[in-house]
Amino acid sequence: MQKIVIAIDGFSSTGKSTVAKLLAKELGYIYVDTGAMYRAVTYFALQNKWIDNSDISKEDLISKLDDINITFKFNKDLGFAEVYLNDQNIESEIRTLKVSQHVSHIAEISEVRRKLVQQQQLMGKDKGIVMDGRDIATVVFPDAELKIFMTASAETRATRRYKELLERGHNLSYDEVLQNVITRDEIDSTREDSPLVKADDAIEFDNSAMTIEEQLEAIRQLVEEKLA
Ligand code: C5P
Repeated sequence: MQKIVIAIDGFSSTGKSTVAKLLAKELGYIYVDTGAMYRAVTYFALQNKWIDNSDISKEDLISKLDDINITFKFNKDLGFAEVYLNDQNIESEIRTLKVSQHVSHIAEISEVRRKLVQQQQLMGKDKGIVMDGRDIATVVFPDAELKIFMTASAETRATRRYKELLERGHNLSYDEVLQNVITRDEIDSTREDSPLVKADDAIEFDNSAMTIEEQLEAIRQLVEEKLA
């Protein structure tokens, strides 16, 4: 059966990955969370102490990019793929507020983007992939057959993220999460290299008032149309 590339972009915590994961499972497609890859690079930089408050030792990071090997391994018990950095499972480590606070500045570095985009394009070369991020429909797969752009109000998104982080056992306030969501969106949308923008041919979904099942149903119909 014909396979397509499904690109899902949008602001932080719009629930892209939840929907993308379920969709990929239904279709038997690969799912790739590209945000996890930028988070993995950020974690690597933090481990090496190349991030000091808002200063990043870019030269050090860029010179060691070849030492970063990011892979995804499917965890049968969890039902999704976890991210590994040089064979170490860092799925939990990359979801902390500390990583969230620095990741958008790491994602501004063109050398980092070039490395990750290349890897993402390789992952999708045989199609049959659902990939979510910020530049998937514009830079990684500009020819993707289906492009979705997700939005929701900042408060809705912060509430979702806050609940998710509490469930994972993180101790932080709603205001910290809201501030982080707003700051990241601002940096991601205004950076020079591959800013977060809606691709001209992307279909926009404001999912503030939509359940996950409603979002999935809407996307299912779009997939059927593309495959018809
Ligand atoms: O999707 P998630 O919120 O985990 O992404 C973390 C950060 O990684 C984003 O805020 C953005 O700065 C960066 N990112 C990016 N391009 C992508 C995916 C994520 O710049 N394709």
